[in-house]
Amino acid sequence: MATKDELVYAGEKGRFTLYTGLCKGCGLCIEKCPTGVLDWNDVLGVYGTPSVLPVAKGKVCTGCGICQQLCPDCAIKVERTRAG
Ligand code: SF4
Ligand code: SF4
Repeated sequence: MATKDELVYAGEKGRFTLYTGLCKGCGLCIEKCPTGVLDWNDVLGVYGTPSVLPVAKGKVCTGCGICQQLCPDCAIKVERTRAG
């Protein structure tokens, strides 16, 4: 279950969790997401900067896990639920 310190996006192919208390708003994940689905949202991260979610319109999170691997602060967890 999500707490107020977690933002969860359950997509068709994967479940994306953002730990807001760890996200520093560097934007690296937005820059590197291969589908361009990550975008800023209204919930603030650890330094009062916006945090992120895979919510860009018309784009789909594939659950590839690249954002989880490159986040310097381990603020993202991706659980793939379906292959493809
Ligand atoms: S890379 Fe990590 S710390 Fe940087 S904006 Fe993305 S989730 Fe936040
Ligand atoms: S799991 Fe892959 S497609 Fe989904 S937000 Fe992260 S980098 Fe983008």
